[in-house]
Amino acid sequence: MSPNATDSSTILREERKMPNGCAKGWSSMSDSAEKQQCWKNQAFLKVNEIVGLVKYYCLRAYIVFWHELSMNPRVRSSPFSPPPADELILSADDIFSTRRRRLFFTSIHLLALGGLYFCVTGQVKLYTVLFALAVGTMSSIGVTAGSHRLWSHHAYKAKLPLRIILALFQTVGVQYSIYNWVRDHRLHHKYTDTDADPHNSNRGFFYSHVGWALMMPHPAFESKVSTVDMSDMESDWVVMWQYKLYAPLAAILSYVLPTVVPWWLWGEDLLVAHLVAAQLRQVLTLHSTFLINSAAHMWGVKPYDKNINPTENMFVSVATCGDGWHNYHHTFPWDYKNAELLDYKLNLSTLFIDAFSLIGWAYDLKTVPTELVNKRALRTGDGTRKPLPTAADEARTAADAAAAAACTNVYGWTDNDLPDEDRQMAQIYKKSD
Ligand SMILES: [Zn+2]
Ligand SMILES: [Zn+2]
Repeated sequence: MSPNATDSSTILREERKMPNGCAKGWSSMSDSAEKQQCWKNQAFLKVNEIVGLVKYYCLRAYIVFWHELSMNPRVRSSPFSPPPADELILSADDIFSTRRRRLFFTSIHLLALGGLYFCVTGQVKLYTVLFALAVGTMSSIGVTAGSHRLWSHHAYKAKLPLRIILALFQTVGVQYSIYNWVRDHRLHHKYTDTDADPHNSNRGFFYSHVGWALMMPHPAFESKVSTVDMSDMESDWVVMWQYKLYAPLAAILSYVLPTVVPWWLWGEDLLVAHLVAAQLRQVLTLHSTFLINSAAHMWGVKPYDKNINPTENMFVSVATCGDGWHNYHHTFPWDYKNAELLDYKLNLSTLFIDAFSLIGWAYDLKTVPTELVNKRALRTGDGTRKPLPTAADEARTAADAAAAAACTNVYGWTDNDLPDEDRQMAQIYKKSD
């Protein structure tokens, strides 16, 4: 993979020949010229490694584009040029062809296996693992709080800086551009578990999990895809900007930066950093999102609507930062919490939105009153959820508690401390007047 093996090895040989080379240790060098030379050598080697990485990505991009151009005659524009208007409503297969997706999925899984090998054999630094977890969480939040709750469902509104942050986070996940994600997700809600649903769970676990991304879309999906109203997305310049720059942005944010940061900041091996923090991390977050379409449409209770496939799945919710409460979500897709009565441990995306609402960047947070949830659960739920106290019930209970606290000992009917309620509700037989 080294781009310039001769230059690198020459430098290494030169370095070894130096009586006071870098290997001696920085603190033991007394001469500033010596330190300068050492720094130059180190920088040169690092630059050479970066050039090698760039060459690797150029080669990879070349293979993908060659494959695309030679096998998919429908490709019409590069990701760098503005998309023609009609391309915006083409099916997923046209925008990101089936063959290219198969090639992409195969390559990322093979590379992720390499990352898993380094993790299992303990060859990865702890900082790199923590960094990969942080980047994975970031990308999950970009999908759940961004392309899902904000853009697909308008469950809340976000000011420009937050929309930009969410768009960048969403790009790290490499799960299609926001535009494509929203279009497919709206179809998923509109035609849940039918042929027009891009990941129809009635076709089995594998299809709804990943098979849909590797196969030609169903004709029913093709016929419905252009009916989705995407005018709101087309008027949001953050969404369209991310659409146009998606390929280079995803390459930089999801692959190049997560590779370079661990290597540069704490000296992780470049290959280990790439395979663990970029490839393995991306594959794991991709599958955690896919679990919403598969596991959370199959296994779990249905407290809100027993007539649909989506379920409440705690495991999926933890894996996706809060999007596994799927029976609730399909029943009330406009709730910004995406769930009912759960703490932030199981719904990190809600914590993220609440935190940004404190500074006003997230606003108009919509949620469902308990009374409405009670009614719906009683009407269509599977009985696993008992009706919960509503706001009115809680107010009444609070008033009762206040009255109870105000009660003092009384000596009899003529005591002025006798509560009015007792006086009014007392039954008096054979009243004299
Ligand atoms: Zn669903
Ligand atoms: Zn949804």
